[in-house]
Amino acid sequence: MRYLIVSDLHANWEALQAVLEHAEGRYDSVVCCGDVVGYGADPDPVTEWTRENVAAIVRGNHDKACAGLEDLEWFNPSARASALWTQTAADPRNLEYLRRLARGPETLHGFQIIHGSPVDEDEYVLTERDVMNVAPYLDAPLTFFGHTHVQVGFLCHRNGVKALRRETLELEKDVQYLINPGSVGQPRDGDPRAAYVLYDTDCRTVVFRRVRYDVESAQKKILLAGLPDLLARRLSTGS
Ligand code: ZN
Repeated sequence: MRYLIVSDLHANWEALQAVLEHAEGRYDSVVCCGDVVGYGADPDPVTEWTRENVAAIVRGNHDKACAGLEDLEWFNPSARASALWTQTAADPRNLEYLRRLARGPETLHGFQIIHGSPVDEDEYVLTERDVMNVAPYLDAPLTFFGHTHVQVGFLCHRNGVKALRRETLELEKDVQYLINPGSVGQPRDGDPRAAYVLYDTDCRTVVFRRVRYDVESAQKKILLAGLPDLLARRLSTGS
């Protein structure tokens, strides 16, 4: 089975379309690690695509916020503004879908998906030290996660944790992997291109991929919607 693994789509239709085109013919099933909406100006097309095409998904903190399940007091001002905007702009049927999304982990064939960490869906796992702290709670040899918008893989061995920055990982036995496909709709690792991962269960490979998309159109829509400028600007730099 060949999986397209996506995360943090953030209502960016242009980025999602570019990913689908780039990955075309290379996957059989789509899996999502959460944050379908928030920040971007296309919550309806992106949520509708998710409803129709994603085989397995866990909710993200922005999905909760936009669906009215989260106290917005803890959100930064631009995240709060975009959650409030999404609550009024999106089709109620799409908000209802987001409200019903399951909290992770979700177990698939030999791997799991989560949004933040295996302990807390809202926890950021960024560094090797972070991975060391959560590794004892991993329930599968391979776990995909999101939330940080940083494309990276970690190998967890009994002797420690190692960040992996190769384009293709050939998965070894007897170790655990924690893999972040990066963000489709709002990358924050200094590379503005949309990020995703292909996972092939037969070849046991994980491939990290990036693709350029029409950033300008996504930015224009954000500004036209009256969302904070910052949300448009950061798409240019991937920060
Ligand atoms: Zn996110």
